[in-house]
Amino acid sequence: MKIICVGRNYVAHAEELKNLVPTEPVLFMKPETALVPKRNPFFIPDFSDDVHYEAELVVRINRIGKNIQEKFAHKYYDAVTVGLDFTARDLQHKLKEKGLPWERAKAFDGSAALGRWIKFDQLENAENPVFHLLLNGNKVQEGRPEQMIFSINQLIAYISQYFTLKIGDVIFTGTPAGVGRVQKNDNLRLFLEDQEVLYLNVK
Ligand code: ZN
Repeated sequence: MKIICVGRNYVAHAEELKNLVPTEPVLFMKPETALVPKRNPFFIPDFSDDVHYEAELVVRINRIGKNIQEKFAHKYYDAVTVGLDFTARDLQHKLKEKGLPWERAKAFDGSAALGRWIKFDQLENAENPVFHLLLNGNKVQEGRPEQMIFSINQLIAYISQYFTLKIGDVIFTGTPAGVGRVQKNDNLRLFLEDQEVLYLNVK
């Protein structure tokens, strides 16, 4: 499976990192080895002193597709959850300054955590479900699809021009404002509407 990620998909987050608001989606990928195994904590890697959480809505692809039209994109995903795109922000800044790829800062082992999947028909507001992150019990991030610069269907149309989507692939759709550093012994709780989809300790 592929983990496809979208950067800068919320205006307020692009601004908090002093990035320009993009005119087309910013894409990157993580390998399968980036996934945090079920029931494991997130381990802060030795190579970074500034790992950030990024809570994101994630959709799961359920049909193979290439060059998918936006109007048909909704037929290509069946479940949604909230995930964490962990980012070694210090390393990412160094790479960005040199114009180098982001993988070491974004795709390292443990850099992707996924909550449990929820079918769209189990959501109260399937068109626009709100999600949020509690860091040690405090709400630090909240988002909903209507705040995205590029909608989920637009992202699927765009991504599938370049990459064939296969069953089981997942798309991280970008993070809203409020990203910040994780520290040892933090706990992170992700919610989709009122359902808790992931509880993760930081070690
Ligand atoms: Zn992200």
